[in-house]
Amino acid sequence: MSLEGNGPAGPGPAARRDAAVRAAVAQGLLGEDEPVAGLLDVAGIRGAAAALREAFDEVRTGDCGVLHAFAVKAASLVPVLRLLADEGLGCEVASPGELALARAAGVPAARIVLDSPAKTPAELRDALSLGIAVNLDSRAELDRLDALVGHGGPPASPLGLRVNPQVGGGSIGAMSTATERSKFGVALRDPGARAWLLRAHADRPWLTRLHAHVGSQGCPLELMAEGVRIVYELAEEINELAGRQQIDTLDIGGGLPVNFASDEVTPDHRDYARLLAATVPGLFDGRYGLVTEFGRSLTAKHGMVVARVEHTKSAGGRRIAVTHAGAQVATRTVFAPGAWPLRVAAYDARGLPKTGPPVAQDVAGPCCFAGDLVAVDRALPPLEAGDHIALLDTGAYYFSTHFAYNSLPRPGVHGWLATADGVRFAPVRAPQTLDELVAESGGAHAAELSSLR
Ligand SMILES: *Cc1c(COP(=O)(O)O)cnc(C)c1O
Repeated sequence: MSLEGNGPAGPGPAARRDAAVRAAVAQGLLGEDEPVAGLLDVAGIRGAAAALREAFDEVRTGDCGVLHAFAVKAASLVPVLRLLADEGLGCEVASPGELALARAAGVPAARIVLDSPAKTPAELRDALSLGIAVNLDSRAELDRLDALVGHGGPPASPLGLRVNPQVGGGSIGAMSTATERSKFGVALRDPGARAWLLRAHADRPWLTRLHAHVGSQGCPLELMAEGVRIVYELAEEINELAGRQQIDTLDIGGGLPVNFASDEVTPDHRDYARLLAATVPGLFDGRYGLVTEFGRSLTAKHGMVVARVEHTKSAGGRRIAVTHAGAQVATRTVFAPGAWPLRVAAYDARGLPKTGPPVAQDVAGPCCFAGDLVAVDRALPPLEAGDHIALLDTGAYYFSTHFAYNSLPRPGVHGWLATADGVRFAPVRAPQTLDELVAESGGAHAAELSSLR
């Protein structure tokens, strides 16, 4: 398939995607033995990282350092973290596992930020000994840190508190982290909270950061910017009281929503950076260092799940394509289809785009429950056994966040790059083997329940 001739900017997203699917099938990355796989567009991810950096560079009026820390949960794959690190990004981690992935990717401690509402004492100690920045989530966590910091000199880690600006939520409740009663951060507008925060900082000169992450998919940009403005004002007040720039860094979180309805990238990082600059001009004047924690907006549009159609059938007049992509890879879409609809592209057995008049059909997954559907009543060229479907815009939070239902193995993930010699692939994660699956399901302990007497 040619990659030429789609205008001066090169082939558009659909042509590039088609070439990747065709090559994945031709090169045997998908087939009877591997009926589902994740494909990541390496050039697309690089481009998104560069565009993020440029968006913030464009609105800076002063010389503020900016660390873009990729939210690891969005694509918890070591080679992806390394690729982003090559582009100058760091990692936002929220568990010992995510921290281990960031370190395995070679991300330096100075570019790692630890969040999470439930850090154990050991996790906190490890982070401090590595010099990793930590955002504390609650008053109780600050007490715990006091005890650790009490022992030595000033901590090497940059430390800050997460604040919930309580600006309200977006269209998806589960993604809205700055509602009045959110579980995250110190609820700023609760009675007494502001006074407590001012005192906590006056007492602890080593608290030098403030953190807010207002929400993710479904949150309007204005709401996110308003949350950042509120946290900025709190920093100004703390610094005024301290008579110095005690808060030297603001961590403004991530959450840029992704357009799942078309190939258009909207909003983009530039839209958000400009809105931030207009809403909170002081943010970029050089007095504060900045940390961002974007996840979905960096990788979602650069990944897809491709799966074989195993069978088709009809039931009660309903046309169903039974595929290998269901809740195990598209968990949110299957359980909350209204909040997480996905585009589906149809390909034939050789990986060429299917043509033909669209007919309404359901696209089902392999899991044994009736609701395992990734699309309902979707108009697509009639799917047949051996065809392929691609779930688009699934490069964040989909194949990297497997759901182990029915002991379906984690699919392989491959990165791809279009070159003059065609599409080249590099392994990101090997498909899980049945031996690995048995081992993680207690295979080593097969007889132990029976012998417990
Ligand atoms: C999930 C999360 C992010 C990333 O959110 P996206 O919507 O993927 O950009 C950033 N910061 C924190 C604290 C998070 O929990």
